[in-house]
Amino acid sequence: MPKMNYGNNIGVSLRFMMEQDPSFRTVAYFSMEVGLKAGIPTYSGGLGVLAGDILKSAADLGVPMAGVTLLYRKGYFRQTFDDCLQEALPVEWDPGKELTLLPNEVTVIIEERIVKVRAWCLEIQGRTGFTVPVYFLDTDLDGNTPEDRQLTWYLYGGDERYRLCQEIILGSGGLRMLRDLGYSNIDDYHLNEGHAAFLLLELIREMGYENYDRVRERGIFTTHTPVSAGHDRFSWDLVNRVMHRSMAGRLRRMMPTEDVSMTEIALRYSHYINGVSEKHAEVSRAMYGREDVDCITNGIHSLTWVSPEMAGLFTKHIPGWDNAPERLVKAAQIPVEEIRLAHGTAKKRLLDYVKATIGKDLDPGRLTIGFARRVAHYKRADLVLRDTERLVKAAGGRVQFIFSGKAHPQDDPAREVLKKLLCEAQNMVGTDIPVVFIEDYDMDKAALLVQGVDLWLNNPIRPREASGTSGMKCALNGIPNFSVLDGWWIEGCVEGVTGWSIGPEPKEGIDDRYDDAVDLDDLLEKLEKVIIPAFYDTPDEWGKVMRGAIALNASYFNTHRVVREYCEKAYGIQMRGL
Ligand SMILES: *Cc1c(COP(=O)(O)O)cnc(C)c1O
Repeated sequence: MPKMNYGNNIGVSLRFMMEQDPSFRTVAYFSMEVGLKAGIPTYSGGLGVLAGDILKSAADLGVPMAGVTLLYRKGYFRQTFDDCLQEALPVEWDPGKELTLLPNEVTVIIEERIVKVRAWCLEIQGRTGFTVPVYFLDTDLDGNTPEDRQLTWYLYGGDERYRLCQEIILGSGGLRMLRDLGYSNIDDYHLNEGHAAFLLLELIREMGYENYDRVRERGIFTTHTPVSAGHDRFSWDLVNRVMHRSMAGRLRRMMPTEDVSMTEIALRYSHYINGVSEKHAEVSRAMYGREDVDCITNGIHSLTWVSPEMAGLFTKHIPGWDNAPERLVKAAQIPVEEIRLAHGTAKKRLLDYVKATIGKDLDPGRLTIGFARRVAHYKRADLVLRDTERLVKAAGGRVQFIFSGKAHPQDDPAREVLKKLLCEAQNMVGTDIPVVFIEDYDMDKAALLVQGVDLWLNNPIRPREASGTSGMKCALNGIPNFSVLDGWWIEGCVEGVTGWSIGPEPKEGIDDRYDDAVDLDDLLEKLEKVIIPAFYDTPDEWGKVMRGAIALNASYFNTHRVVREYCEKAYGIQMRGL
């Protein structure tokens, strides 16, 4: 099938016509979660926010893409605390306020029942007026059993069967919906993680049994998880019970394996496979035992994550940066004082929010350290609190911490970590170091934090951080990272220029050792001897690191660059005149 060149050189009216015609779309982007904004709670963390940022950049750049995900009427969850322990409540949101319900309806078979699927749509309008539609699949409609209606209620809720049903809806239902909507010319099926891999089964059904190679030509698989345990696997027993007989039969012929691994399906039936940082691609090559795992390092959608003050400053000095974030290299010329001023306003907004919601007065003059992400074991949210005596000695009276993040509702050890952050940390460190916890982390709170803190702390267990993206959001806002050398930071860290590293240099391969004690020691040592003095004693030098983060990190770690790379390496779309 011929690929379409696309760019600003295509006349506006022709472009408009093509946009109206779904058969023009050539890239279908499937993701179990998509995070576009806080009001559409269909994401849990980095995977979903990345998907949303990629779809936004595709719209900005005029890439003919359509997104597919599930609706999640009850969202991921709303975080509250009962006796310091996280409770997960359903999110109440009204899809009708955010999305448009489409008249189309398709079906999938689950446990020999016909389950109807419909779709809600959001059109992302890009910087030049081009739009990228995102379809949210929904089974909560008349005619489905009460139980089937709930299949698209919860993101990562329920048991294995629930998950399998959701993945059938996403993969099979998603492709059927695209066809029903008139998408007849899709060249590229991009799987953001393996969850949607059943769509490849559906493609094989469409093309006839023998066409594995033609399916492979169209499959693109981006893996995000550097540990085998993180990949979905289903037993044949479960698959045979849940999936339509002929589908399950086809799957058995395709995958004569012990169980059904979504990653395996995606790996076998994709022609382009990538990890999301150089290190992660290397780890994935070793984990999958194959050489052909390429790398496209993640990024962020600059306009989504930049503070209004910083955006204004960039526009003043670097006109056009907003649809060409690579031009931020020029930020190296912006006077440091202006960067500090812009950041100061964002910092005040964050501290005002803390005052208004938690009632705690934080000092705007004090080095404010942020740590916020999903609270999973490998991210070691409480590492900095594991030797509080030394922390107080090293940094008492000179730093304050803001934490935020959700733990998966079934992850009890992570709920204990949250308890420590929310209820115990302040007592552990005493009054010399204020510690606050912002509840119910979401994209709005993330924006406040990544625009307003002074330093972004990140200390995962290596090599578990596939990429990490919140540090990139910080860099864009002139906030240096202080992070373990893993994921994107191996590529982004220029010591003392864009931020600082924690712990040893990364080693080749996946057998990289980590040591909590070594990392903590280095963290506290550098905080005391390098970072605190830089912040208080040489504000001009600190300002230069802020500026270095913008010029050297934000100019590269953005989804405009990421989407261009996917176009070049995976979709075979040439970008012209953009
Ligand atoms: C950006 C973002 C994340 C991803 O953070 P990582 O640094 O990749 O862990 C998670 N949650 C929210 C709400 C975000 O905005």
